Amino acid sequence: MGKNKIFDEAKKILNENHNLLQLEVQSNISKAKSDDEFSALNAKKRELIFELGKYTNEKKDVKPLIDELKEITKKQEIVLKKIGLTFNDLKEKFNCEKCKDEGVINGEYCVCFKRILSDILLKESGLNKTNLPKFSDVDYSLYSDAYVKNMKIIYDNIENYINNLKNQEKHIVTISGPTGVGKTFLTECIVERAIEQGYYTIYTTSIGLNVNMLKYHTAQVNEKQNIIEPYLTCDLLIIDDLGTEPIYNNVTIEYLYLVISERLKAGLYTFINTNLTPNQIIDVYGERIFSRIANIRDTMLINMNANDIRLGLRK
Ligand SMILES: [Zn+2]
Repeated sequence: MGKNKIFDEAKKILNENHNLLQLEVQSNISKAKSDDEFSALNAKKRELIFELGKYTNEKKDVKPLIDELKEITKKQEIVLKKIGLTFNDLKEKFNCEKCKDEGVINGEYCVCFKRILSDILLKESGLNKTNLPKFSDVDYSLYSDAYVKNMKIIYDNIENYINNLKNQEKHIVTISGPTGVGKTFLTECIVERAIEQGYYTIYTTSIGLNVNMLKYHTAQVNEKQNIIEPYLTCDLLIIDDLGTEPIYNNVTIEYLYLVISERLKAGLYTFINTNLTPNQIIDVYGERIFSRIANIRDTMLINMNANDIRLGLRK
C-alpha cells in the first residue's frame, strides 16, 4: 500500500468505528420514539422550544416555560427508564471523547487515530509479529561487561535517532556486524518505535527485496508501480541481512541503488543491516552503492562487533 492509501484506510476505519457506535444510538432512538408517551412529550417539548424563541424576541419572562421544559424532561426520564434507557443512550456516541472521533486535535493526529494507524502499519510493515520488543526491553546483562557500555551507546544513539527522525541529516543508517550480536532485536525495536510514532515503516529482508525487484524488472508496465511504490514512499525502510541475497544481473545492484538513491532524493530514511564489513560491501556491490550506504560522511555507520563495537559517530 502506498502511504496515502494507508492514511485513507485509517480514516475509513475511524469513520466505520464511529458509525458502528451510532447504530446502537439509532436503535435506542427508534425504541424511545415508538413509545407513545415519550413521543407526545417530545411534541410538547418542541412546541415549548418554539414558544421560548417567541418569548425571547418579545422580551417576555421565559422562566415559566423553562420550568415546564424541565418538568417534561423529568417525565421523559421516567418513561425512558421504564423501557430501559437514559437520555445518554440517545446522544451521539464517540469512541474517543478527546477528538470526538475526528482523529485530529488542533491539527495533530489524535492518539486514537495513531493507534488505528499503528495497527495498519504493523500489518503492512512486513514483520509478521504482533508484539515487537521496545528499546526499554534491552537486556544488557546478555552482553559481557566490556561490551555493555558500547551496546548502550549504540541503542541510545539509535533510539534518539528514531525519536528525532525528521531532524536527522544522515538519512541512512548501516548496522554492520556478525550474527548473534542482537541486530534482529535492535531492528524490531526500531520498527516498534517508528510505528509508535506514526511513521510508515517497511521491514524487508534483502532476499525479499531482491525477489520483488526481480518481479518489478519483469512485470508489465501497469503493475510496476504497485511493486515498487511502498519501497519508494515509506518513511522508513529497513533492509535486513544485506549480502545474503543472490546477485541477479541487471537487477540486484541496480535496483538497490535505485531504491536508495530515490529515497535519499525524497528525504526518506533507510536502515540497512548487514553481516558484511565495509570492505566486503565494496567488493559485492561496488563503489556506487558503497558511497551511498557505507561512507561515514552521509551515513550513520554502526559497527556491532562481538569484541569491539565501534560507532561511526562516536566522539
Ligand atoms: Zn481521538
